[in-house]
Amino acid sequence: MFSVTILGNNSAVPAYERLPSSQLVNIDGQKFLVDCGEGTQLQLIRYKIKYSRISHIFISHLHGDHYFGLIGLINSFGLLNRQQDLVVFGPPPLKKILELQLQVASTRLPFSLHIKEITGPGMLLETEDIEISCFPTDHRITCYGFSFCEKTITRKRLAAQGQPRRYAYCADTRYNESLLTYVSEYDLMYHEATYLDDQREKAELRFHSTAKQAAQLAQKAKVNRLLLGHFSSQYEKLEAFKNEAREIFPNTEIAEQGVTYLL
Ligand SMILES: [Zn+2]
Repeated sequence: MFSVTILGNNSAVPAYERLPSSQLVNIDGQKFLVDCGEGTQLQLIRYKIKYSRISHIFISHLHGDHYFGLIGLINSFGLLNRQQDLVVFGPPPLKKILELQLQVASTRLPFSLHIKEITGPGMLLETEDIEISCFPTDHRITCYGFSFCEKTITRKRLAAQGQPRRYAYCADTRYNESLLTYVSEYDLMYHEATYLDDQREKAELRFHSTAKQAAQLAQKAKVNRLLLGHFSSQYEKLEAFKNEAREIFPNTEIAEQGVTYLL
Protein backbone atom coordinates (compact mmCIF):
# COMPACT_ATOMS: atom_id res chain seq x y z
CA MET A 1 0.00 0.00 0.00
CA PHE A 2 1.39 3.34 -1.07
CA SER A 3 -1.15 6.13 -1.16
CA VAL A 4 -1.70 9.85 -0.88
CA THR A 5 -4.89 11.22 0.67
CA ILE A 6 -5.67 14.87 0.07
CA LEU A 7 -6.84 16.77 3.16
CA GLY A 8 -6.59 20.32 1.84
CA ASN A 9 -6.13 21.51 -1.73
CA ASN A 10 -6.56 25.28 -1.59
CA SER A 11 -4.05 28.10 -1.37
CA ALA A 12 -4.03 31.01 1.06
CA VAL A 13 -7.56 31.27 2.47
CA PRO A 14 -10.20 28.53 2.69
CA ALA A 15 -12.85 28.83 -0.03
CA TYR A 16 -15.67 26.72 -1.45
CA GLU A 17 -15.08 24.14 1.29
CA ARG A 18 -11.52 23.78 0.14
CA LEU A 19 -8.99 24.02 2.93
CA PRO A 20 -5.31 24.94 2.77
CA SER A 21 -2.57 22.43 1.97
CA SER A 22 -2.25 19.12 3.73
CA GLN A 23 -2.02 15.50 2.68
CA LEU A 24 -1.40 12.13 4.21
CA VAL A 25 1.08 9.71 2.71
CA ASN A 26 0.56 6.10 3.74
CA ILE A 27 3.28 3.59 2.98
CA ASP A 28 2.39 0.13 4.24
CA GLY A 29 0.62 1.59 7.26
CA GLN A 30 3.31 4.12 8.10
CA LYS A 31 1.59 7.48 8.05
CA PHE A 32 3.28 10.73 7.14
CA LEU A 33 1.58 14.10 7.17
CA VAL A 34 2.76 16.53 4.51
CA ASP A 35 2.03 20.14 5.36
CA CYS A 36 -0.58 21.01 7.93
CA GLY A 37 -2.71 23.99 6.97
CA GLU A 38 -5.45 25.30 9.21
CA GLY A 39 -8.24 22.75 9.65
CA THR A 40 -6.08 19.69 9.00
CA GLN A 41 -7.17 17.86 12.13
CA LEU A 42 -10.81 18.47 11.30
CA GLN A 43 -10.21 16.96 7.88
CA LEU A 44 -8.52 13.93 9.44
CA ILE A 45 -11.64 13.44 11.57
CA ARG A 46 -14.00 14.08 8.66
CA TYR A 47 -12.31 11.47 6.51
CA LYS A 48 -12.05 9.01 9.41
CA ILE A 49 -8.29 8.73 9.27
CA LYS A 50 -6.65 7.23 12.34
CA TYR A 51 -4.27 10.07 12.84
CA SER A 52 -2.73 8.86 16.06
CA ARG A 53 -0.56 6.69 13.79
CA ILE A 54 1.08 9.68 12.12
CA SER A 55 4.73 9.31 13.06
CA HIS A 56 6.31 12.15 11.09
CA ILE A 57 5.11 15.53 9.85
CA PHE A 58 6.85 17.35 7.01
CA ILE A 59 6.33 21.11 6.68
CA SER A 60 7.42 22.54 3.33
CA HIS A 61 7.66 26.19 4.32
CA LEU A 62 6.40 28.70 6.81
CA HIS A 63 3.62 30.41 4.89
CA GLY A 64 0.61 30.08 7.16
CA ASP A 65 -1.49 28.06 4.75
CA HIS A 66 1.04 25.24 5.09
CA TYR A 67 1.46 25.02 8.86
CA PHE A 68 -1.14 26.99 10.85
CA GLY A 69 -2.85 23.72 11.74
CA LEU A 70 0.27 22.25 13.26
CA ILE A 71 0.11 23.57 16.82
CA GLY A 72 -3.56 22.59 17.05
CA LEU A 73 -2.81 19.06 15.95
CA ILE A 74 0.15 18.73 18.33
CA ASN A 75 -2.00 20.08 21.17
CA SER A 76 -4.73 17.55 20.39
CA PHE A 77 -2.21 14.72 20.34
CA GLY A 78 -1.31 15.80 23.87
CA LEU A 79 -4.93 15.99 25.07
CA LEU A 80 -5.58 12.57 23.55
CA ASN A 81 -2.67 11.26 25.62
CA ARG A 82 -0.52 10.20 22.72
CA GLN A 83 2.48 8.22 23.91
CA GLN A 84 4.60 7.59 20.85
CA ASP A 85 7.23 10.05 19.67
CA LEU A 86 6.34 12.58 17.01
CA VAL A 87 8.92 13.96 14.61
CA VAL A 88 8.30 17.24 12.81
CA PHE A 89 10.52 18.41 9.97
CA GLY A 90 10.43 21.98 8.65
CA PRO A 91 12.55 25.00 7.91
CA PRO A 92 13.75 27.31 10.71
CA PRO A 93 12.54 28.96 12.84
CA LEU A 94 9.82 26.28 13.16
CA LYS A 95 11.35 24.93 16.36
CA LYS A 96 11.36 28.37 17.98
CA ILE A 97 7.76 29.04 16.91
CA LEU A 98 6.40 25.73 18.23
CA GLU A 99 8.38 25.86 21.45
CA LEU A 100 7.12 29.38 22.17
CA GLN A 101 3.53 28.36 21.47
CA LEU A 102 3.83 25.41 23.84
CA GLN A 103 5.71 27.39 26.46
CA VAL A 104 3.29 30.33 26.77
CA ALA A 105 0.42 27.90 27.25
CA SER A 106 2.40 25.84 29.81
CA THR A 107 1.67 22.81 27.68
CA ARG A 108 3.26 19.59 28.81
CA LEU A 109 3.06 16.96 26.15
CA PRO A 110 2.81 13.32 27.26
CA PHE A 111 4.98 12.27 24.29
CA SER A 112 8.37 13.30 22.96
CA LEU A 113 8.21 15.94 20.26
CA HIS A 114 11.29 16.09 18.07
CA ILE A 115 11.44 19.17 15.89
CA LYS A 116 14.09 18.78 13.22
CA GLU A 117 14.89 21.84 11.19
CA ILE A 118 15.67 21.43 7.53
CA THR A 119 18.70 23.43 6.49
CA GLY A 120 19.30 22.04 3.03
CA PRO A 121 18.37 19.33 0.56
CA GLY A 122 19.00 15.70 1.39
CA MET A 123 17.76 12.62 3.18
CA LEU A 124 15.40 13.19 6.08
CA LEU A 125 14.36 9.68 6.97
CA GLU A 126 15.48 6.22 5.97
CA THR A 127 13.88 2.99 7.08
CA GLU A 128 14.34 -0.57 5.92
CA ASP A 129 11.89 0.01 3.08
CA ILE A 130 11.69 3.68 2.29
CA GLU A 131 13.62 6.89 1.91
CA ILE A 132 12.18 10.36 2.41
CA SER A 133 14.21 13.30 1.13
CA CYS A 134 13.71 17.00 0.64
CA PHE A 135 14.62 19.27 -2.25
CA PRO A 136 14.48 23.05 -2.71
CA THR A 137 11.66 24.63 -4.71
CA ASP A 138 11.53 28.16 -6.17
CA HIS A 139 9.29 30.09 -3.81
CA ARG A 140 9.19 33.54 -2.17
CA ILE A 141 10.59 32.15 1.07
CA THR A 142 12.67 29.04 1.72
CA CYS A 143 10.57 26.08 0.67
CA TYR A 144 11.17 22.36 0.25
CA GLY A 145 9.47 19.62 -1.65
CA PHE A 146 9.51 16.05 -0.38
CA SER A 147 10.09 12.76 -2.12
CA PHE A 148 8.88 9.42 -0.80
CA CYS A 149 10.65 6.48 -2.35
CA GLU A 150 10.49 2.78 -1.80
CA LYS A 151 13.92 1.22 -1.76
CA THR A 152 14.95 -0.69 -4.82
CA ILE A 153 15.45 -4.10 -3.39
CA THR A 154 14.14 -5.38 -0.15
CA ARG A 155 12.84 -8.85 0.48
CA LYS A 156 9.42 -7.48 1.23
CA ARG A 157 9.37 -5.67 -2.08
CA LEU A 158 10.47 -8.70 -4.04
CA ALA A 159 7.81 -10.77 -2.36
CA ALA A 160 5.25 -8.18 -3.35
CA GLN A 161 6.85 -8.38 -6.83
CA GLY A 162 6.36 -4.70 -7.39
CA GLN A 163 8.72 -2.11 -8.71
CA PRO A 164 9.79 0.51 -6.19
CA ARG A 165 7.31 3.38 -6.27
CA ARG A 166 8.10 7.06 -5.91
CA TYR A 167 6.00 10.06 -5.00
CA ALA A 168 7.07 13.71 -5.09
CA TYR A 169 5.33 16.62 -3.40
CA CYS A 170 6.62 19.80 -5.03
CA ALA A 171 5.05 22.18 -2.47
CA ASP A 172 4.80 25.85 -3.50
CA THR A 173 6.96 26.84 -6.44
CA ARG A 174 7.33 28.85 -9.59
CA TYR A 175 7.90 26.92 -12.77
CA ASN A 176 11.50 25.85 -12.46
CA GLU A 177 13.19 23.07 -14.38
CA SER A 178 15.72 22.59 -11.62
CA LEU A 179 13.03 20.42 -10.04
CA LEU A 180 13.52 17.88 -12.82
CA THR A 181 16.61 16.61 -11.03
CA TYR A 182 14.47 15.48 -8.14
CA VAL A 183 11.28 14.17 -9.69
CA SER A 184 12.38 12.54 -12.92
CA GLU A 185 10.33 9.47 -13.86
CA TYR A 186 8.39 9.41 -10.63
CA ASP A 187 5.15 7.45 -10.47
CA LEU A 188 3.19 10.37 -9.11
CA MET A 189 4.05 14.03 -8.84
CA TYR A 190 2.01 16.60 -6.96
CA HIS A 191 2.63 20.07 -8.35
CA GLU A 192 0.91 23.24 -7.33
CA ALA A 193 -1.33 25.00 -9.85
CA THR A 194 -2.46 28.15 -8.12
CA TYR A 195 -3.60 29.86 -11.32
CA LEU A 196 -4.85 29.24 -14.82
CA ASP A 197 -2.83 30.18 -17.89
CA ASP A 198 -4.29 33.68 -18.31
CA GLN A 199 -2.69 34.61 -14.98
CA ARG A 200 0.79 33.29 -15.59
CA GLU A 201 2.37 36.70 -15.01
CA LYS A 202 0.74 36.89 -11.61
CA ALA A 203 1.92 33.35 -10.94
CA GLU A 204 5.49 34.29 -11.78
CA LEU A 205 5.38 37.42 -9.60
CA ARG A 206 3.97 35.52 -6.65
CA PHE A 207 6.27 32.53 -7.01
CA HIS A 208 3.47 30.20 -7.96
CA SER A 209 2.63 28.10 -11.02
CA THR A 210 -0.17 27.65 -13.50
CA ALA A 211 -1.80 24.35 -14.40
CA LYS A 212 -0.03 24.41 -17.77
CA GLN A 213 3.35 24.97 -16.17
CA ALA A 214 2.77 22.05 -13.82
CA ALA A 215 1.90 19.94 -16.86
CA GLN A 216 5.01 21.10 -18.71
CA LEU A 217 7.17 20.05 -15.79
CA ALA A 218 5.39 16.70 -15.55
CA GLN A 219 5.97 16.11 -19.25
CA LYS A 220 9.66 17.03 -19.07
CA ALA A 221 10.15 14.95 -15.95
CA LYS A 222 8.45 11.98 -17.65
CA VAL A 223 6.44 11.24 -14.53
CA ASN A 224 3.62 8.76 -14.82
CA ARG A 225 0.86 10.84 -13.27
CA LEU A 226 0.33 14.45 -12.21
CA LEU A 227 -1.78 15.70 -9.33
CA LEU A 228 -2.69 19.40 -9.26
CA GLY A 229 -3.43 21.34 -6.06
CA HIS A 230 -3.06 24.62 -4.14
CA PHE A 231 -5.82 26.36 -6.11
CA SER A 232 -6.41 30.06 -5.73
CA SER A 233 -9.61 30.94 -3.91
CA GLN A 234 -10.64 33.10 -6.86
CA TYR A 235 -11.71 29.92 -8.68
CA GLU A 236 -14.89 28.18 -7.67
CA LYS A 237 -14.77 25.47 -10.33
CA LEU A 238 -11.62 23.47 -10.94
CA GLU A 239 -12.47 21.82 -14.25
CA ALA A 240 -10.41 24.33 -16.25
CA PHE A 241 -7.25 23.38 -14.34
CA LYS A 242 -7.59 19.81 -15.48
CA ASN A 243 -8.44 20.80 -19.04
CA GLU A 244 -5.52 23.19 -19.46
CA ALA A 245 -3.04 20.74 -17.98
CA ARG A 246 -4.33 17.78 -19.99
CA GLU A 247 -3.61 19.59 -23.25
CA ILE A 248 0.04 19.12 -22.38
CA PHE A 249 0.04 16.19 -19.99
CA PRO A 250 -3.04 13.94 -20.35
CA ASN A 251 -2.51 11.90 -17.20
CA THR A 252 -3.42 14.80 -14.91
CA GLU A 253 -5.87 14.78 -12.04
CA ILE A 254 -7.21 17.38 -9.66
CA ALA A 255 -6.21 16.69 -6.05
CA GLU A 256 -9.66 16.28 -4.53
CA GLN A 257 -10.14 16.54 -0.79
CA GLY A 258 -10.93 13.24 0.86
CA VAL A 259 -9.73 11.24 -2.15
CA THR A 260 -6.94 8.70 -1.83
CA TYR A 261 -4.62 8.29 -4.80
CA LEU A 262 -2.89 4.94 -5.04
CA LEU A 263 0.55 4.53 -6.50
ZN1 LIG B 1 3.70 29.60 0.00
